[in-house]
Amino acid sequence: MANVLKISTLGDSVLRQIALPVNEDHPQLQEFISDLWATMYRTEGIGLAAPQVGKSIRVFVIDLDILKDEFPELKGFKKVFINPQVEILKGGKVAYNEGCLSIPGVNKKVTRPDAIQITYQDENFETHTDRYTGFASRVIQHEYDHLEGKLFVDYLNPLTKLLLSKKLHSNQK
Ligand code: ZN
Repeated sequence: MANVLKISTLGDSVLRQIALPVNEDHPQLQEFISDLWATMYRTEGIGLAAPQVGKSIRVFVIDLDILKDEFPELKGFKKVFINPQVEILKGGKVAYNEGCLSIPGVNKKVTRPDAIQITYQDENFETHTDRYTGFASRVIQHEYDHLEGKLFVDYLNPLTKLLLSKKLHSNQK
């Protein structure tokens, strides 16, 4: 049975660490991935990265199927990303609202590059290289940032951060 794990929130130092690569022999990795899914679904998220549950390793999960009515290309998109490497491709930038399970109650527009290429291993440690644009690209970039110790509020301008400071502060421990 999978366990629902505790979500780390803004102020927890694990969210600011550079996560470590994992290999196939990582103890209880498959159980951990099941726990990530269980935690993500319980909290009604669409993506969850290992540091968000206090484990600083390079793993995140994303399930975008729920958005298929709005974005038909996302039907069936459910993936585990291990040791991902993201490369920004040529193209425009897009602004879109983001939130984060680790920063409850904050939802803000973030500008990100649209097109990316990601090389990663899946849960069976098979390597894939895929290109994404649109919503999938955005969620991947958001989750990837968690592995680099970055949070979406880091992208906000100083005034927006100032206006949010009460909310951001109340999320600090
Ligand atoms: Zn997040």
